[in-house]
Amino acid sequence: PEAITIQELANRMAERAVDVIRMLMKQGAMHKITDVIDADTAQLIAEELGHTVKRVAASDVEEGLFDQVDDSSDTETRSPVVTVMGHVDHGKTSLLDALRHANVVSGEAGGITQHIGAYQVLSPESGKKITFIDTPGHAAFTAMRARGAKVTDIVVLVVAADDGVMPQTVEAINHAKAARVPIIVAINKIDKPDARPERVRTELLQHEVQVESFGGDVVDVEVSAKNKTNLDKLLEMIALQADILDLKTNSERPAEGTVIEAKLDRGRGPVATVLVQRGTLRVGDIIVAGAEMGRVRALISDQGETVQEAGPSVPVEVLGFNGPPEAGDRLAVVENEARARQVTSYRAHQKRENAAASISGMRGSLEQMMS
Ligand code: GDP
Ligand code: MG
Repeated sequence: PEAITIQELANRMAERAVDVIRMLMKQGAMHKITDVIDADTAQLIAEELGHTVKRVAASDVEEGLFDQVDDSSDTETRSPVVTVMGHVDHGKTSLLDALRHANVVSGEAGGITQHIGAYQVLSPESGKKITFIDTPGHAAFTAMRARGAKVTDIVVLVVAADDGVMPQTVEAINHAKAARVPIIVAINKIDKPDARPERVRTELLQHEVQVESFGGDVVDVEVSAKNKTNLDKLLEMIALQADILDLKTNSERPAEGTVIEAKLDRGRGPVATVLVQRGTLRVGDIIVAGAEMGRVRALISDQGETVQEAGPSVPVEVLGFNGPPEAGDRLAVVENEARARQVTSYRAHQKRENAAASISGMRGSLEQMMS
């Protein structure tokens, strides 16, 4: 259902809202300024007030921004992107930290790494890169999925061997299944005297996660984030799973990606961590993400180094947005600033309308109407 508030309709026509209400009243309908009317009614009113109406559909504005459907040019192998999920206190943060210091891609192991919300490590045996989203938890995953972003190729499900399957473990399983993302189970805290990994496997079975030793196809690895036990094995299993998934991309095109997190930094202005998914993002590119636009002023790697470009599966901090976008917003490179303004102003309108519509108890996308 397409709709618009009376206030917004009046604004777009540069008419007084009271005149719109009066016209509606002539047609026998009583309305307040905050009411939402459907697009057809709005068009009638606009025309009666002497305006020409041009309806702009989302498809017109968003056309060509993303090329996800056509993946025929994706022929290069890319690194897997991994999200770590699991119950609180089962060791997500500890595991992410241990992995990060174990095998950082460039720079020395144990060197100073900057927290940018995602990082890459090398799997030691195969020498393959793996990208970890460093914001564990369901909130990030859910926020991204709600925006239609698919960033994760593999979920590492952390289950503490001394605690077993808990409510958020089950939630994580459901998230992964809904997103059709394969799970690798990391049975953590194996160093603890009361660790019972076999119990974890049995409990997982009750939630339709069947590990290999139980005849299923889900890989599990017993690890200790604390003692750094079996981290290499975990990385290798991720690399293997990635081979099976046969992840492809194309780096020779304008970048597409997803905002992992964003903030307004006092010194640097809006800063967004972006996971590039296709193409190559370069300094100077004109970008849009959600209702924000900008020109890439600087790119900073997970090592804290300034880089000129970032290719597929590479996380980078992006400086140069006019305002911070939202986690889960999809980033696209556009040809010029006029195009960027067209897209973001349309989306900003849509955002306001959606907010107004949901306040009035209506939902759905809205068409932009111009006088
Ligand atoms: P999160 O809530 O899932 O991020 O869990 P944390 O990483 O914050 O860990 C919760 C607690 O478990 C902390 O006190 C960690 O030190 C501890 N912990 C994490 N991994 C291990 C492990 O492998 N062995 C032991 N013994 N403790 C661990
Ligand atoms: Mg944590």
